[in-house]
Amino acid sequence: MGPRAESIADLARLGGDLPDCGEDPLAVVQLLDQYAAPATVANSGGRFFGFVNGGALPAAAGASWLVSAWDQNAAMHVMSPAAAQLEATALGWVCELLGLPKTCGGAVVTGATMASFCGLAAARHTLLAHAGWNAEADGLFGAPPLTVVVGDEVHASLLKALAMLGLGRKRVVRVATDGQGRMRADSLPALDAKTIVCLQAGNVNTGAFDPAREICERAREAGAWVHVDGAFGLWAAASPKFRHLMDGFENADSWATDAHKWPNVGYDCGVAVVREPENLRGAMTVTAAYFTSDGWRNPMEYTPESSRRARGIELWAALRSLGRAGMADLVERTCRHTRGFAEALSAAGFAILNDVVINQVLVDFGGAAKTTNVIRGIQEDGTCWCGGTVWQGRTAMRISVSSWVTTDDDVERSIGAIVRIAKGV
Ligand SMILES: *Cc1c(COP(=O)(O)O)cnc(C)c1O
Repeated sequence: MGPRAESIADLARLGGDLPDCGEDPLAVVQLLDQYAAPATVANSGGRFFGFVNGGALPAAAGASWLVSAWDQNAAMHVMSPAAAQLEATALGWVCELLGLPKTCGGAVVTGATMASFCGLAAARHTLLAHAGWNAEADGLFGAPPLTVVVGDEVHASLLKALAMLGLGRKRVVRVATDGQGRMRADSLPALDAKTIVCLQAGNVNTGAFDPAREICERAREAGAWVHVDGAFGLWAAASPKFRHLMDGFENADSWATDAHKWPNVGYDCGVAVVREPENLRGAMTVTAAYFTSDGWRNPMEYTPESSRRARGIELWAALRSLGRAGMADLVERTCRHTRGFAEALSAAGFAILNDVVINQVLVDFGGAAKTTNVIRGIQEDGTCWCGGTVWQGRTAMRISVSSWVTTDDDVERSIGAIVRIAKGV
């Protein structure tokens, strides 16, 4: 599943100095096929359970080839009506699937990190505007301070987004979490109209959801802003069986999610959604004499980028090919496979460290050293690929089932390999 050491070493053939003279394009592409392809990771296959990597749906991959060949600039409607309008349609579909108001606005960006950046930029813009300060015009020096509240199990990328926004990784108020990584509502500090509360829908290790209903209610009473990092977990809303996990999250003000995770759009594709589109536009808009809109929605008025890839078309293609039923089935199927892993590995005598609520399982094979060896053995064996993590002090193997390709047979074969390797270590 991972490339062999020789393949990685062969990448050196593609290194070296920039050639003086150019080469035949076909020969260049053949070189990639010969030396780069063997050093790729098979995360588009059905037995890749590392990180939270989805596969690429055929419609999304096909759309991606078209998008590359068309070479559209998705900054403004006038540059690509197709890109601008399909992106707007896809954003509406995403809101519908996630159970968010249709009046929300959003941005198609590179991933959940940038989606959180957008949501938090909208928060910064709005809360400071309410306090009489224009963050975009005047910066943060001398601005009324904002408080940012996160759970102790906050994802590292949200802290990065805060760092990029001048809100600081370290000046956050961290709230205690429970054994599943959920923020404890009873530990929430006092909130006010200059506070941003960052919730999580789907902890990256356990898949757990913060108690959103209670926290959003308290935030609303105080005039605070609630941002949700739901890189994969938000998509639970697409299934009637799992929608209950999303209870209360619809009351937040901004949401960040990934389309390259659960919805299986190829890399890269993330989505930011904001309750009041004008709040995002206030944070992201740019003007120049030659920028025109003619009344159309210009995507770049909502995104950090100006010139940008038409990845909204890939998102559109994935959702159009799945439909509402297909997205629900993808969520339910991958969650069923995940439970299959948890049940079989528990029956084989290994400790499952999390409540398996969606598509994440944490396995402890009997201590840190043994678990590390089992993970290495599984990666060398090559039947499937799983990575490691440390969950609340315990070394664990992480199984994340996110791909549309994974079948019952893939799960059975992978369980067989994992149990065989773990018993042999
Ligand atoms: C994957 C993930 C992110 C980061 O997403 P990128 O697409 O890599 O930017 C953020 N939060 C959570 C919970 C994630 O699982």
